Amino acid sequence: MSDLTCPHCHTELPHSANTCHGCQAEVEYGVPSSAFILLLITAIFIGVATRNMSLGGWVALTAILVCGSVALTSLFANRIAFKR
Ligand SMILES: [Zn+2]
Repeated sequence: MSDLTCPHCHTELPHSANTCHGCQAEVEYGVPSSAFILLLITAIFIGVATRNMSLGGWVALTAILVCGSVALTSLFANRIAFKR
């Protein structure tokens, strides 16, 4: 893996760094937490849309969460974000 360059202060960082040495920006790898929240909201919405949270609704909700998590993880596998 090549080194990272902070977009805020252009400091070079090793790939495993969690914060930027130059500007203290947080380095986030992988799936953004907002994507997981969106997935959770979608799953709950679909669960509620089945009208009653019966066994089928819970199964659907769990399936969406599991499949969605796997999809998100592979989708954002190479994502690196700097947050300040
Ligand atoms: Zn920086």
